[in-house]
Amino acid sequence: MRLENKVAIVTGGASGLGEATAKLFAAEGAKVIIADVLDKEGHEIEADISETGGTGLFARLDVTDESQWEDVVATTVSRFGKLDLLVNNAGISGSDPDRTNTDAWDRLMEINAKGVFLGVKHAVPEMKKLGSGAIVNISSISGVVGQEYVHKGYSASKGAVRLLTKSAAVQYASDGIRINSVHPGVMDPMRTSKITATSGVRDQMLATVPLGREGTRLEVANAVLFLASDEASYITGAELMVDGGFTAN
Ligand code: NAD
Repeated sequence: MRLENKVAIVTGGASGLGEATAKLFAAEGAKVIIADVLDKEGHEIEADISETGGTGLFARLDVTDESQWEDVVATTVSRFGKLDLLVNNAGISGSDPDRTNTDAWDRLMEINAKGVFLGVKHAVPEMKKLGSGAIVNISSISGVVGQEYVHKGYSASKGAVRLLTKSAAVQYASDGIRINSVHPGVMDPMRTSKITATSGVRDQMLATVPLGREGTRLEVANAVLFLASDEASYITGAELMVDGGFTAN
């Protein structure tokens, strides 16, 4: 198994890409903390993982709350002894029809960008104790190219994730910690998607995808798994597009 004896936190692990990642990590032998604000869904995924013989634990985490980060990392270490892997996946969509809403800018930066900063900040000390670790931050194609229907705060927050990943990769490489970003393209809509979930807009976006279809959650989770695993031992500060060629177009 590719993550045997590893302990991982997956934020936003109660839905979508995070759920797929948490389940794949558990299937590959990791003990997985499903960290999310969705209690019911988080407990269901914990149960799904244990039914398939894996080890999962739901822990409530609002990624914008620094004291909750301290609690989740402490819970992880007291329950499983260490922290090897972090997937900063929790996020909200920027597809509100009002692309100039200032409150939306603040919320997007708070959850999508500051949430990742706090995750790195609180995971790294535990990884330093091990002399190793891997962090995968979920950005987006929106962190690389501009998009018509997306709030500028979403693009800015995902661009921040892309560059804070490279900054942290440089700063913690000497501690044996690798940090990379994954950039999904057109996928199933997020829970918070509005305009980008409408069929007209989705069709327009899909028309520019060279592979001609949307991506699956498993296709993203597989990329996250690779970067988190020891197979990626010489990869840090990299950005991996999982977008069917969208950003190559
Ligand atoms: P989703 O809405 O299904 O899942 C997002 C998860 O994040 C949910 O479980 C939600 O409860 C959690 N979350 C939101 N705010 C939180 C907070 N403050 N604290 C803790 N958890 C919080 O969406 P998804 O498609 O699975 O998206 C996962 C990641 O992938 C996001 O970062 C998103 O920006 C990114 N992404 C998604 C797409 C897409 O089209 N679906 C494309 C590119 C990038």
